[in-house]
Amino acid sequence: MTQKHKNETRVVTLGREGDFGFPSVNPPVYRTSTVVFPDLEAFDKGEAGTWELPTYGRFGNPTKDSLAQALSELQDAYHTVLTTSGLAAITTSLMAFLGQGDHLLMVDSVYGPTRKFCNMELNRFGVETTYYDPTIGAGIKELMQPNTKVIFLESPGSMTFEMQDIEAITSIAHEAGAIVIADNTWATPLYFKPFDWGIDISIHSCTKYIAGHSDLIMGMISVPEKHLPPIMRAWKNIGTCSNSDDAYLAARGLRTMAVRLKQHERAAIEVAEWLKGRDEVIRILHPAMPDDPGHALWKKYMTGACGLFAAQIKPVARPALAAMLDGMELFKMGFSWGGFESLIVPFKPASLRTATSWEKDDLILRLHVGLEDPGDLIADLEAGFARMKKAA
Ligand SMILES: *Cc1c(COP(=O)(O)O)cnc(C)c1O
Repeated sequence: MTQKHKNETRVVTLGREGDFGFPSVNPPVYRTSTVVFPDLEAFDKGEAGTWELPTYGRFGNPTKDSLAQALSELQDAYHTVLTTSGLAAITTSLMAFLGQGDHLLMVDSVYGPTRKFCNMELNRFGVETTYYDPTIGAGIKELMQPNTKVIFLESPGSMTFEMQDIEAITSIAHEAGAIVIADNTWATPLYFKPFDWGIDISIHSCTKYIAGHSDLIMGMISVPEKHLPPIMRAWKNIGTCSNSDDAYLAARGLRTMAVRLKQHERAAIEVAEWLKGRDEVIRILHPAMPDDPGHALWKKYMTGACGLFAAQIKPVARPALAAMLDGMELFKMGFSWGGFESLIVPFKPASLRTATSWEKDDLILRLHVGLEDPGDLIADLEAGFARMKKAA
């Protein structure tokens, strides 16, 4: 499909050009383990690992390939592989480029399970991780070592929403021959185009806005042509693949992603504006808000925002926090995000960070603003704060 179309059109059209054997607008769900080869020549090529050929269910089928194709085109990537989960996309990419004796620079605001993978798995294979302040920008140069192979970004961080100076970091990485891997789940392929800014490997959790309905777990790794071989190697050898039913559902989610995101964005800003005026709130962490410290970077790199942001609130005792959160009608406590429903989680950043300074008692409420009416959502929060006050 042509580049002349806007994102809103492309999420509807992409990935639908294949011959699915029936003129349906959606691909069928192929459930595949075995792929049979038409002849010995094809078998020999398959054995040789030619990745374009269907050889085994793990490596694709028309259901998965059409989704991967659409997700590649949305980002101007050469190729996309689908993985079991967003986390598997991260771990597979890190394993593709890192080995014994290598050094990794990891952003301190990274998604928690990524941190655990570095500290509990990569370290066992002799890979050393240094965490860096997300606002470091060109200062990252000081942390580079001769063996630094990968710099990992997540901008904004999905808990505290610091924006990173992507261009400054990618240029320093490339001068030193390092690869930049970015987790772009927050901005989605619609609001940030990773390969326009020097990112080498683009990762998303499809679990979030792409699927959009809180009913599946999937990830993806997208690459330009020059980085395909190491990603293909690791992806095939590790054995992380999506399943066809989830790929079908994710493609179905993709068709409405552009309109959903617009509503998430608008409603989240409305809720954030309201929260800003509350006594309980110290500050809003949301790069699309004009007074956010990351706003200029957000404007430079991104064309929109999603429904996920946070509010730092004044420290309260646990029972008062429970009085608020236990009684929420619409904002249920739950991880994940990017589905139709609103969610809220409390956390203390100090317990999750090593390279940035947060006070021990700093308390954050992370909100996912879903597709409910924003007025109803605000009323839910207002009632929650009233319960909190009463219990304090
Ligand atoms: C949810 C999430 C992931 C992991 O995705 P799963 O599909 O749940 O494994 C990775 N990165 C970010 C920023 C996320 O929010």
